Amino acid sequence: MIPIYNPATGDTVGQVPVGGRVAVNAAVITAEEAFPPWSAKTPRERGKFLAAGAALVRARAGELATNLTREQGKPHVEAVDEIRGFAHVLEYYAGLSSTVHGEAVSLGAVGDCLIYPRPLGVCAAIIPWNMPALLMAWKAAPSLLAGNTMVLKPSATAPLTCLALARALEEAGLPPGVLTLLTGTGEEAGEALVAHPGIRRVSFTGSTATGLRVQALAAGRPVRLTMELGGSDPMVVCADADIPRAVEGAVRGRFYNCGQTCTAVKRLYVEEAVAVQFTALLQERVAKIPVGNGLSPDVAMGPLHTAAGRDAVAALVNDAVADGARVLTGGEAMHGPEYDNGHFYAPTLITRVPPRSPLLTTEVFGPVLPIVPVPNLDAAIHAANQSPYALGASIWTKDLQSVRKFFQEIHAGVVWVNRHLTLPPEVPFGGTGMSGYGRENGLHALRDYMEEKTLILGW
Ligand code: NAD
Repeated sequence: MIPIYNPATGDTVGQVPVGGRVAVNAAVITAEEAFPPWSAKTPRERGKFLAAGAALVRARAGELATNLTREQGKPHVEAVDEIRGFAHVLEYYAGLSSTVHGEAVSLGAVGDCLIYPRPLGVCAAIIPWNMPALLMAWKAAPSLLAGNTMVLKPSATAPLTCLALARALEEAGLPPGVLTLLTGTGEEAGEALVAHPGIRRVSFTGSTATGLRVQALAAGRPVRLTMELGGSDPMVVCADADIPRAVEGAVRGRFYNCGQTCTAVKRLYVEEAVAVQFTALLQERVAKIPVGNGLSPDVAMGPLHTAAGRDAVAALVNDAVADGARVLTGGEAMHGPEYDNGHFYAPTLITRVPPRSPLLTTEVFGPVLPIVPVPNLDAAIHAANQSPYALGASIWTKDLQSVRKFFQEIHAGVVWVNRHLTLPPEVPFGGTGMSGYGRENGLHALRDYMEEKTLILGW
């Protein structure tokens, strides 16, 4: 069994089986058996199961969120948001059920053509620990609505909420085998799942290094892949921005989920004309972020999910300081009775970071924000585009021409203006470059879980 720990206290909160090749085989067989009756239902019938599951999850949101905080570490208010987000995604796809239908094309004297959208079969999903409930919904809801069955592997360190959500869907009527959860490590369960010949599509979310490994494992068979990988999102604050609003955007953008979000603000470029004012306000605000156990009221930032994650962040900050960077606030692990058994690191702002520092060139998955003053928007875009990642990016300005330029020139899959992080289920989301390919959410994701079958009628 794999023990699951509370990142705030070190307590064991549960355990799950270590799935291997045998468990993968059993899960795929279950999903294959469930496929014919599930795919034979109409999209509207399938949508009703999603809606019923969403209703039950909403009714249990508080309890599910408490469990999510215990295993993942995020503040309870964020966990409630995420559980409701799970329900919202299911409701969105349930609402799309009436749009799943084919097309007719007249071929004139030749005849007519009917094009049917068909499910693919058994799909696999592999997700990380940072947003387990939301990412489970992003993958399961469009896949199931399309008529596929799915085997989903949650992370080895935060699988409990996913298991509870899967149980809730079954309680709400989802037929057994339509969504099977497979617990275990990436190296064993994950690899065996990707390599299984019964899998028609792999939707992967995780780090770029693991994504490339998964892609290599899937090579050699006709498997459709989606790669939602790491990010190093830039936020650009222009001189004409609403500065207090941009400060709040940076706080939420970087410190939400303790900085462990793929689209977190990982680098901040601010025009020199407002850099001093902006940085002073941000520093004041960040120094006051209440950090602690996510189950304590008023806590706005929890621990990092793992000790290794905290230590990696600490090492990056220490190395940058040794190279001349200056910590404005934070810059160290937190100590004291409330912190000593968890993986707490203080919310950190850092300036004068050398351009080649890994704080600016790699994905930093924790509560550390480098601030880089730049002379103008051109310089900001140039610096922001030096990263191999290209997931999200935001610009904070009132000027439409700046927005246009930024949107055209920045390397990213999603661009926000005067916002960061917002990702409603209606909106296609995904990256390019080392951030991967394929899109989650919206009609785009639904289509990606189907393939067309064509009937040509010669009258
Ligand atoms: P990770 O790559 O270590 O693990 C992700 C999942 O892959 C886990 O379930 C893990 O068990 C599994 N896995 C690990 N090795 C595997 C292998 N060899 N074969 C098959 N599966 C394997 O990532 P993580 O640390 O859990 O998550 C953080 C990363 O996820 C960050 O890079 C973050 O940016 C990224 N992320 C991306 C998005 C997005 O939509 N682009 C969303 C959330 C998180």
